[in-house]
Formats: sequence, C-alpha cells, structure tokens
Amino acid sequence: MITLRFSAVLRWLGWFLGRKDTMITLKLPDGSAKQVAPGTSARQVAESIGKRLAQAAIAAKVDGAIVDLARDLPAGEHSFQILTDKDKDALDVLRHSCAHVMARAVMRLYPGTQLAFGPVVEHPVPGFYYDIDSPTPIREEDFPRIEAEMKKIVEKAEPFERFERPTAEARGLCADLKQTLKVEHIDDDLKQYPSLSFYRQGEFIDLCRGPHIPHAGKIGAFKVVSIAGAYWKNDSTRPQLQRLYGTAFFTQKELDDYLHNLEEAKKRDHRVLGKQLKLFTISPMVGSGLILWMPKGAIVRGILEAFIKDELVKRGYSPVYTPHIGRLELYRTSGHFPYYRDAQFAPMYTRPAAGTLDICQYRLSLGDLDDKRETEFVQYMKLAYFLPPEYEQAKTQAEKLELVHRYTLTLLQTMQVDLPDYRKASNAKERADVLLKWLAEQEGFLLKPMNCPHHIHIYKAEQRSYRDLPVRLAEFGTVYRYEQTGELNGMTRVRGFTQDDAHLFMTPDQVESEFRANIELVLHIFNTLGLTDYRVRLGFRDPASTKYVGSDEDWNVAQTALESIVKTLGMNYSVEIGEAAFYGPKIDFVVKDCIGREWQLGTVQLDYNLPKRFDLEYIGADNKPHRPIMIHRAPFGSMERFMGILIEHFAGAFPTWLAPEQARVLTVSEKFTDYAQKIEAQLKAMGFRAGGDYRPEKIGFKIREAQLEKIPYMLVIGDKEQTAGTVAVRGRSEGDLGAVPVAEFISKLEREVREKRLPAAKAV
Ligand SMILES: [Zn+2]
Ligand SMILES: [Zn+2]
Repeated sequence: MITLRFSAVLRWLGWFLGRKDTMITLKLPDGSAKQVAPGTSARQVAESIGKRLAQAAIAAKVDGAIVDLARDLPAGEHSFQILTDKDKDALDVLRHSCAHVMARAVMRLYPGTQLAFGPVVEHPVPGFYYDIDSPTPIREEDFPRIEAEMKKIVEKAEPFERFERPTAEARGLCADLKQTLKVEHIDDDLKQYPSLSFYRQGEFIDLCRGPHIPHAGKIGAFKVVSIAGAYWKNDSTRPQLQRLYGTAFFTQKELDDYLHNLEEAKKRDHRVLGKQLKLFTISPMVGSGLILWMPKGAIVRGILEAFIKDELVKRGYSPVYTPHIGRLELYRTSGHFPYYRDAQFAPMYTRPAAGTLDICQYRLSLGDLDDKRETEFVQYMKLAYFLPPEYEQAKTQAEKLELVHRYTLTLLQTMQVDLPDYRKASNAKERADVLLKWLAEQEGFLLKPMNCPHHIHIYKAEQRSYRDLPVRLAEFGTVYRYEQTGELNGMTRVRGFTQDDAHLFMTPDQVESEFRANIELVLHIFNTLGLTDYRVRLGFRDPASTKYVGSDEDWNVAQTALESIVKTLGMNYSVEIGEAAFYGPKIDFVVKDCIGREWQLGTVQLDYNLPKRFDLEYIGADNKPHRPIMIHRAPFGSMERFMGILIEHFAGAFPTWLAPEQARVLTVSEKFTDYAQKIEAQLKAMGFRAGGDYRPEKIGFKIREAQLEKIPYMLVIGDKEQTAGTVAVRGRSEGDLGAVPVAEFISKLEREVREKRLPAAKAV
C-alpha cells in the first residue's frame, strides 16, 4: 500500500515539476495504435477497449513479456495484447497462480512448511508444482484436504497484490516469514537485483517474479495430481523436498476432459498393450532400451515398411542396405564423433586401451571448459569408468588438462606406444592433434548413430552428373544411441531403433521441389494413418551454441530457404531456436493423437554442411564440379517410436490393413470344424491373416478372447451358417453384423484392406 501511494506521489510530483511525461504508444494485435497517459495500467487499457474484454482479461503481454493487469505500463512505444482464457500464456499464468493457492492451503494445513519454487510445467502433467518441505510429509490421502482448503481460497476470490522491496529488506521479510529457502535463494542468486517483488494474497505472501491472475476467482477448476521427491534447486547434494503437482483450468469442463484423457492414456499405454497383445518385449538380459519385436508386432511393422517402400518407389527413391557399424574416421569426418559421444555407445577399438586414449584425446581437444560443460564431462567420464586420479580435486582448467596429459603419458607407456611428437608437444591442443593422428591409424568402429555417412559413400561411389540428380537413397537403417537408463521408455525412448531414413542429393534449384515433395509424402503417410492433427516446427540453430558445424552463411541460406518453402506451402509453423540438427535446420512434424497428446514424429532436414565435409560433387551442365545439397528425412522418425505411438493412438485396435490377425473363425461346436477350417484356409489363400478357434469352449468365451486380442472380425460358424454357406460376422467395435455369404465377406475385407480404411470411432 505504501509503495502504491508513494509512486502516485512521485508521478504527481513529476507532472507538477513540469517533467515532460510523454504519452505511451501501444501497438495492438489488430495493427492499430493506442495512446495512453503515463500511469495507465493494462487493466485500464482493457476497460477502455471494452467491458467484455476487461472482464475476460487475465494478464497482458507487453513487448512479448507477460505482465499483471494491475501493473503500470512503461514509457515509450510497445506491442500490447490483453490475454484472455483463449491464450495458452494466460493458462500458464492461471496455473502458476494456482500454485500459490496450493502453497497457501498447504501452509494453513501444515504450519511451518518451507516453500521452494512453484513453476508451471508441461510434464509429467500439464500444470504446476510447488517444491515444499513440510514438518509432516504429505501423502496422497491428504490431497482431498488440500483441495478442500484450496476451494475455500478460490471461492473468496481475493486479489493477488504485487509489492516490491529493496533486496536487503526483501531478505528480511523472508526471514520474518520464516522462509529459510527463500532467504537462501536470495543469497545465492538474487543479490545483484536492487529490489525484489512479492505477491500477497490474504495472509499469504510469497517472493515471486509473477505475473499472476487478478484474483483467485479466475481459477475455474483445479486438482492436486501427485507427489514426488525432489531436491532443493534440483541439486542432489542439497536437501530433499517434496514436489506437489497440480493442474488448473479456466473451466470445470476442461479439467474433466483432461482427467478423462488421462484415464484414456492409461488404458492406451503402449507398454501395457504391447505386452497384452504380444507385440513387443524388452528383456534385461538382452539390454534395456533394446526392443524385441514379437511375431504380432513384426507383422504390423512389416506392413508399415511395405507401405512406405511402395510410396518411395513410386516417388523415385532407390532402396539401399548398409551395415550397422562404420569406421570411427567416417564419423570424425561427419562430425557425429566425438561431439555426440555422450549419447553414443563406446567406440570399439581393436586395441581396447585405445578407447581410454580416445577419451584423453577428446578431453585435451576441448581445452578449457565452462562450469556446465565441465560437470557434463565429469559425468561422462564417470559413466565410462574413466576419471584421471585427482581430476575432480584440481582447481583450474590448466591443472585438469595437465592431469589428463600425465594420465595419457602413463597409458602410452603401458600400451608400449612411443609417440615422440606427443612428448614434444607443448600444449593441450597440440597434444590432442598428435593423439588424434595416432587414433586415426588404429582400427576403431562405432555402432552407427546415423545412416547419413553410409549413404553419402554410396553417393560417392559413382561419378554423378546433374542429369542423375536428385539421387534419393532410402533405407530402414538401424541406429544406436546410448540414452540414459532413466530416459528409456517402452518403445518411445530406446537405445537401438530403425529409422525409415532417406538421403536426397540435389542441385540448388531442386531444393524447393524436393522439400515440397517430402512434406507431401509425410502428410500422405499421416493422413493414411488418421494422424490428421499436426503442427510444424522449424528447428533453427542457436547462434550462441558451439554444437553446430558449418559456416554462418550456409546456415542463413538454409534457414531462409526452409522458412520460405513452409510459407509458400501456407503451413502453420513456429520457429524454435536451438532445435536444429547439428548440420542444418529442420522441419519437425508434431502430431496430436486422438486424445490430444502431442508426439514429435517425422522430420525433414536441409543440409549444406555434410556435402562439404565429405567433399561431394556432381558435374554441372557447365562441365564443372559443383557441390550438391542434401536432405535428410524420416516420416515415421523410427519404427519403434512410431509403433509405440500407433499402439496408443489406436488403443491396440489396429485398422484391418495393419492388424496382426484380421479375422478369426470361431466354431459353436466341434461339429463345424471342417467347414470352419475350409473358410480359414480360403482366407489365408487370399492373402489374409486369418486364424481359427476350434476348441471345445463356449462361443461367448471364444468371442471375448478374440475381442481382447482386438481382432477386427470374428466369423462365427454354427448350424445355420454351415447349411447356408455363410459366416456370421462380428466386428470388434460394431458387434453383430449379421450373416453373409463367405464370398461377400471376403470382398468386403479385400476392399477395406486395399483402401487402408481406418476404424470409424475411437474404439477402446
Ligand atoms: Zn508467483
Ligand atoms: Zn541423415
């Protein structure tokens, strides 16, 4: 309150003293401009535009930054937008505000609770969490109590009031509130700011940057979702806290839909269905993250592969095959090694100890590392069971490099390798160069992390003229990545996977048409599978990062080209900085499944760099050598991931053209086995995947079993059917479809498969 009055006085004083307060200019989303007086708040602007807008307003966006409605607008010219419940940004503001409400409820129920951070998250639930340290740990049984307390707070609809304090005073206030974690946070990270902001809601005061909703009554519906362990500032050396997750929406209906989808997601979990339907398995004995495709899963995969192969041949692709490993030199040239080595299986050297020298070389070549990279590198070395003695205790980068150097000398001696140039070298860089030269002469292989270098060498195997271009090489190529154990998840995060990969080599004037054709191919495949809700993400380079190869100029050309193609195709897209592949920008297709979850699938990438690194050429019309441009693309991404997503999308009930078993003949009694077997044989002879259940079981039991296996059609055979030469058809989702002559059923099935028809409804 004091701050408010004080600032009002200042404003008035400024005006009184004749200080020229110029008007604020706001550029509104519709392109118009609006002038407002200094001291105007975003809420006042909303009110001046219209009563309905003011009522719907949640927060405002000023020059891209989201601010409270009550904040005074800064001087000058700004882009300005009122956020309502239609905006995703507003939902985030709502959810974070609900985190305050949850913390307030917890404080009431568990006095003495320490609060840490309460941000908005998308995973594992779209909502928020608050990290807390309460005197009695919170359990799931406590959620209803917390929710009941939150309900009281929401019903009172008290405002969120912002106030600022100079940092020293802010620290004092946190100490008075007995919030020691907040005090620690100020000491650790916030000392450099002159003042800090707090938000008060009733008796609850929280150190927070904001922004927030105007009052708690805007929270239409909320739920406390789960509780997990967490560390203070996510640092495992710091105290353990509890992370209480919740979610909030503007309306009860949105929350209900969300909870319904959550239930649906559980029913559709591909790890559960994969086991139940015998599609795939993972054995710790084989290795985590390594998928074993069981016969039924293999059938589905085979059909998907055949489908895409057909499309590729139609579109002028040439299928190729390449091995699962390649020489390290190949990946040193491509840049896949050593930069991505933390995500790769260890290299295989014929002299095993060379692998250790390889790590020394890598560390020496990196020179001085910043803190973040240093931590990452120590983690990597620990994972490889390679950490030079005393490395972690060394204080400076120079000391660390010296330790690695001495370790290298010991290794060279043990391996009886004499490298005079190494001894002569005077700094880390020179030493790294000598070691690299030696390593390059050793026989070493890598499980392939990508197929591109292999395909590049197929391109290079022949002299190419501009008349041969574009060259389109396609392969279901299996690659390996060493994902962390904690990251592995069923089929969607694995360590070995098969990409539906292809590499296209073309002249600059073919880039646009090839790119277009690729986008069309991806969309054709998605449409065929009923994945019609998708968005496009352009992944651009982060110019500040060192993980990318190639010149600024190539990057600019590639990024501009890509954006203009997407624009001319009229696609909805967003640009994401830092999401590029290391050799070039890319388009990712993010698909929404039938319960609204987003999955990143197909990707098309433009590459000006690898052709340069591998010195690729074609002879142009001018008889001179030119550099081709490459496209990398994989519409499914990987067969494993795609299968996982399809299992969830279809809830295991694959469309008939993909189903492992398309029809099963079921007999009412053993009397009809001969007739039934003839029908099964007839279906098989026509190329359908048919089965039969002739056990002396009740027909109801047989139907239930086939239903659980999600077989599209059950053909029931009894006396009537045998006499009339028909089958009584049951659809897994439609139920009884009546009796039809066998030939009629077969022609219906044939049509459904040929047209790759999709199941009519969301059948579970
Ligand atoms: Zn806050
Ligand atoms: Zn590639």
